[in-house]
Amino acid sequence: MTVDDRLSQADVAPIAPRRHLVLLGGGHSHLPVIAAARDWQDTVEVTLVSPDALTAYSGMVPGVIAGHYRARECLIDIERLAGRAGVRFIRAAAVGLDPVLRTIRLGDGTVLSYDIVSIDIGATPHATPALAEAIESGHCGDMTIAPCKPFPMLMDRLDRFFVDHGARPRPVDLCVVGAGLAGIEVALALAFRMRAHADARVRLLSGDARLISTAPRRVGAALEQACADHGVDLVRGARIESAEPGALVAADGRRIRADLALLATGARAPAWLEGSGLALDPQGFIAVASTLASVSHASVFAAGDCAAVLHHPRPRAGVYAVRQGPPLAANLWRALAGEAPAAFKPQREALALAALGPRAAVAIRNGLIMGGPASRGALGRVLSDALARGLWQWKDRIDRAFVERFSGP
Ligand SMILES: Cc1cc2nc3c(=O)[nH]c(=O)nc-3n(C[C@H](O)[C@H](O)[C@H](O)COP(=O)(O)OP(=O)(O)OC[C@H]3O[C@@H](n4cnc5c(N)ncnc54)[C@H](O)[C@@H]3O)c2cc1C
Repeated sequence: MTVDDRLSQADVAPIAPRRHLVLLGGGHSHLPVIAAARDWQDTVEVTLVSPDALTAYSGMVPGVIAGHYRARECLIDIERLAGRAGVRFIRAAAVGLDPVLRTIRLGDGTVLSYDIVSIDIGATPHATPALAEAIESGHCGDMTIAPCKPFPMLMDRLDRFFVDHGARPRPVDLCVVGAGLAGIEVALALAFRMRAHADARVRLLSGDARLISTAPRRVGAALEQACADHGVDLVRGARIESAEPGALVAADGRRIRADLALLATGARAPAWLEGSGLALDPQGFIAVASTLASVSHASVFAAGDCAAVLHHPRPRAGVYAVRQGPPLAANLWRALAGEAPAAFKPQREALALAALGPRAAVAIRNGLIMGGPASRGALGRVLSDALARGLWQWKDRIDRAFVERFSGP
């Protein structure tokens, strides 16, 4: 074979096409993946699909509601992050996926092909169809209704409510539906925001008889005390099923007056996953192995609230979604290189720093709680309040550092 023959063979030899990785959703787990894609540009084409160019860091959302942060401070510009990493950004929501043909259908009808897809699209609030309809429209009579996620919708509706209330101050009832940790933080934040309005009443509607019933009693008791301290009225056993003008309606027929209703009712799986053919857990979340790969389709990965890690079930919380990011990035790279993904075991317990409304927080871990009302018995009021302020400063530093990490130049 002559040199010319060899050259002409090389000329016609097929060049391996760059593999296509599609990232659905710009949630907490995908942030380190987008950043890592900067090093993959030569071998992989990466596309990020998200209906929003900005994603919120959830830990700071109560602080935005309370007025400690401007909304911009808790937002990460994922379109910019993608641009810096050479990732194509498509502003759209996925509405369907075919894991056999390896295609994704977007809201505008566009179909996108992939070699590997990673899904991090979060979850939606639990709501009866009647309540979901009210959330969709944003109103029921004069009552403003907003889900706590997606954040842009929450802030848009909340801002309009506050502007309207500022223009026409009047007695108002503000209700937070759902008394998990997020709902408690949001109610305390609202109470702090309205502290100068003696005619504003904040209520936290809990479907259960006590707060955080999955944790030891002392955790719920300390948070109940925090609500009492900061002017949040707790309404127990109120499972809200629908809304009528000016009121929320509970399953037992109680009508609870509301001018503003914010929904923090836990996590439900995005509905469109049902028709995808992916293996789902009984609640409709994407069933994944400890590698974060779908148990039914090896070319599909999922993380964050939309995924259920079958062997390591954990609460749906941002902290777990964040921790899944780096192993997800490593496994996506392995899958693209044709290697087997590695198993990841999440930590069993995570520290939760929950904001109390003012610049104060409690720390919760392993069924223990400290700071503010939780430490009053042991430390006395002055020291326990100082501890709560210190915990808030710590939380503030962690949260700001996270946003900063993905917002660099
Ligand atoms: C008020 C509040 C406070 C909270 N505070 C904390 C806290 O302090 N600590 C904590 O651990 N957890 C907290 N949480 C829970 C936390 O928000 C979630 O667990 C976390 O956001 C889950 O992250 P994720 O990556 O799964 O998805 P998300 O952060 O929800 O992001 C999902 C992304 O996917 C996009 N998306 C949605 N649908 C589609 C689609 N069809 N196609 C493409 N993209 C799509 C969305 O636009 C969004 O950008 C809080 C929740 C709330 C509501």
